[in-house]
Amino acid sequence: MRIDVVTIFPEYLEPLNVSLVGKARARGLLDVRLHDLRNWTHDRHHTVDDTPYGGGPGMVMKPEPWGEALDEIAASGEDKPVIVVPTPSGRPFTQRLAEELSTRPWLVFTPARYEGIDRRVVEEYAERYEVREVSIGDYVLAGGEAPVLVMVEAVARLLPGVLGNAESHRDDSFADGAMANLLEGPVYTKPPLWRGRDVPDVLLSGHHGRVERWRRDQALTRTAANRPDLLRSCDPETLDKHDRAM
Ligand code: SAM
Repeated sequence: MRIDVVTIFPEYLEPLNVSLVGKARARGLLDVRLHDLRNWTHDRHHTVDDTPYGGGPGMVMKPEPWGEALDEIAASGEDKPVIVVPTPSGRPFTQRLAEELSTRPWLVFTPARYEGIDRRVVEEYAERYEVREVSIGDYVLAGGEAPVLVMVEAVARLLPGVLGNAESHRDDSFADGAMANLLEGPVYTKPPLWRGRDVPDVLLSGHHGRVERWRRDQALTRTAANRPDLLRSCDPETLDKHDRAM
């Protein structure tokens, strides 16, 4: 997969060199290209923002540098990219969306600063490309770089070959399939006794069916406690007889 990120703070994206994403890049599974938006400005001060029409506080990112940057980047590949615009007013970023984006060959992220990007940029590119306006949560950050780190990591770990064990995201919270709409329950490792606290017996039983049932019960209990909204919106078809009895 190819990922381009256009930002005025390329150094903010340095974590993309470490850990899972860094290794995926080193192994050639992910081609990440960072671009400084100011390279597409033409004035002495490399201006990327201006005052908002209609008045009000803050500054708005000018359309011209974004337009030049996106034209050049989009013309540099064979496929059509999906343009992902981080914004608190976008659709929520979910595991489903991460799964969907992980199937695309090329993503271009446009993290903004200030009050965001002049609206005409989204309108312009939505006519030629798939544009996704995406929010990582109901809070406002100073810029879109941290949301890009979040989204790239969530997408990258779903790419074939990136996780050592392809099964490891199967039981994750929100994973599609049996765990859809459920949070993952608690996990344990050695030693079996730590500070007087035991690992639940069932996990040491070696009985696969009982372990699976216990994990699902824990997932349901945790979801009911922390995210009852997820259970309420759950498709009843995904619940079995034992789930419903809980
Ligand atoms: N005035 C904007 C609003 O209220 O929607 C907030 C702009 S915010 C200060 C600057 C930039 O940070 C946004 O344009 C976006 O790129 C990014 N950003 C902030 N919070 C975000 C969130 N929850 N999800 C995705 N991007 C976010």
